[in-house]
Amino acid sequence: MNCPYCDKQAVFLTSKEFYGRDYGSNVYLCRPCDAYVGTHGNTKNPLGTMATPEVRRWRKAAHSIFDPLWRSREMSRSTAYRWMQEAMGLSSKEAHIALFDEEQCKQLIEKVKEQRGIKHV
Ligand SMILES: [Zn+2]
Repeated sequence: MNCPYCDKQAVFLTSKEFYGRDYGSNVYLCRPCDAYVGTHGNTKNPLGTMATPEVRRWRKAAHSIFDPLWRSREMSRSTAYRWMQEAMGLSSKEAHIALFDEEQCKQLIEKVKEQRGIKHV
């Protein structure tokens, strides 16, 4: 996998090498960009796209505003994700915060605020 920010080849590491602890998974890392993504268990399949510290912060912010939509049982998880697809014009494959860049995170945060009628937060 190439780093989406600098286009150099990412380093493939075990979680033990990366975190100093074995989580039974692996990590793609670009050291110059400090961008990384974990894998599904002990495979080479990434969980999303590589993220810089800035993008990781935005994804976390997006999750913390989006997840309560379904965690609070206002809607089911699948309804919440379908709503996200429609609100953002994404396919079901694309509608995952783990794949989002900074702009998409910001867009989702705005849409959720609109949905919940929260203004100027
Ligand atoms: Zn890079």
